[in-house]
Amino acid sequence: MLASTGPVADPADPSATLWQATAPAAPKLAALDGNAETDVLVIGGGIAGLSTALHLAERGVDVLLVEAAQLGSGATGQSGGLIAPDYIRHSPASIGHALGNNEAGERMTRLVGEAAQRCFDLIAHHGIDCDARQDGFYTPVHTHRLAAAQRDTAEQWRARGFDVSVIDGAETQRRLGSRAYCGALRFGQGGWLNPLAYARGLARAAVTAGARIHVETPVADLARIGDRWHARTPAGLIGARRIVLAANGGNAGLHPAMRHAALPLHVYEFATAPLVPDLRARVLPEGGAFTDKSPYIFSARYDGAGRLISAFPKTFVVRGAQARRNEAKRRLVRYFKGFETVEIESVWEGVAWINASFLPEIYDLGDGALAIQACNGRGISLNSAIGVELAGALATNDLGTMSVQPRKPKPFPFFRAAARLPKAMMTLAYLSD
Ligand SMILES: Cc1cc2nc3c(=O)[nH]c(=O)nc-3n(C[C@H](O)[C@H](O)[C@H](O)COP(=O)(O)OP(=O)(O)OC[C@H]3O[C@@H](n4cnc5c(N)ncnc54)[C@H](O)[C@@H]3O)c2cc1C
Repeated sequence: MLASTGPVADPADPSATLWQATAPAAPKLAALDGNAETDVLVIGGGIAGLSTALHLAERGVDVLLVEAAQLGSGATGQSGGLIAPDYIRHSPASIGHALGNNEAGERMTRLVGEAAQRCFDLIAHHGIDCDARQDGFYTPVHTHRLAAAQRDTAEQWRARGFDVSVIDGAETQRRLGSRAYCGALRFGQGGWLNPLAYARGLARAAVTAGARIHVETPVADLARIGDRWHARTPAGLIGARRIVLAANGGNAGLHPAMRHAALPLHVYEFATAPLVPDLRARVLPEGGAFTDKSPYIFSARYDGAGRLISAFPKTFVVRGAQARRNEAKRRLVRYFKGFETVEIESVWEGVAWINASFLPEIYDLGDGALAIQACNGRGISLNSAIGVELAGALATNDLGTMSVQPRKPKPFPFFRAAARLPKAMMTLAYLSD
């Protein structure tokens, strides 16, 4: 079972996540030994790859997934595990314009809005033990002007049938336990989970459905020979008719068209020790999770043991283990009362990869090769839903059914300089915080 209450991780080790200490064990899987053949090769064992493999296997497609390290060892297992059925940059009204097509916009809105429910349904369907709570996701704002603008956004979601409510300033302060905010939207289908436990549960379900999964099997390169793809791994070649690149940042090294398609955003997640009842009663007393709309983004949720989990982006300023713990504490004290003596139990680092559109993207690389590039710091439920849709499209040979229409990758111009931008912008946001 989940939710260990003992000491969890060395807070000085940025690779030791809370989830590694609290998730049920991974299914026993081996590295690939020798050559293999498959219809669909999925590269990457995060949420995107695992959901795709599970749903392909359920549809009777021959699928093999390879993961370079362990399942969930990329962004999935580093994430905060918030289930957030909202756009990052867009709204239901603006998305049609951004995509140049209103119908495509409506399909994207349905995908984003329904992703949380689909994720919780998947967990229930497969009985995945991942500490999942569907108790709402909030998007609080710091100014009255933004709070007024949010009313219109709520209407846009509600007009499309989604459970999105406007929470006024006083009620937001009570529900979140912070006096920093002037209002919020509440997405009723959102919530939180243990993302590593979720990934491991998806893998277990995929193996049961017939998918072959190998860990510690990095793909070094891909070649197209005749009408098949050949993936080179340390122990041999995998031949495949079709491939799905679900390696997130690793996609860049697998296909030349993906080389400059995503920028790294480094983020520190952290967890407190389980909070005393008095603090628990004050912060998020009714549960739920939130991510605010400030440039130096602040978020919070609990785990099943009552640890408060939050995050801060990596900057050029906060460096070293002690500075990271200090920054974690500073953030909590700034937003919540009574946190001066709370222990920071673990701090870990993750890399969220950002594409140019800030929207989930599936790239068509030609010759039966597709890439999922949909991290953007919001992919836990979204990539689950994309995996369902992509599997359906591959099983029926009809990509037109998907909510995210495959496009050609859009490289970032001046990539080397651009790759430093997220950290530089987060440094500015930190300094103005
Ligand atoms: C710190 C942080 C916090 C986040 N918080 C949230 C949150 O609260 N809510 C939310 O919805 N989203 C969040 N996200 C985003 C979310 O984690 C991602 O969108 C999602 O996990 C991406 O899943 P993925 O499968 O595409 O990629 P990953 O999980 O990164 O999986 C890619 C996998 O591919 C493997 N790989 C790479 N190269 C190769 C290769 N050559 N051969 C074989 N395998 C390879 C990697 O080892 C990795 O396991 C967060 C991300 C980070 C980094």
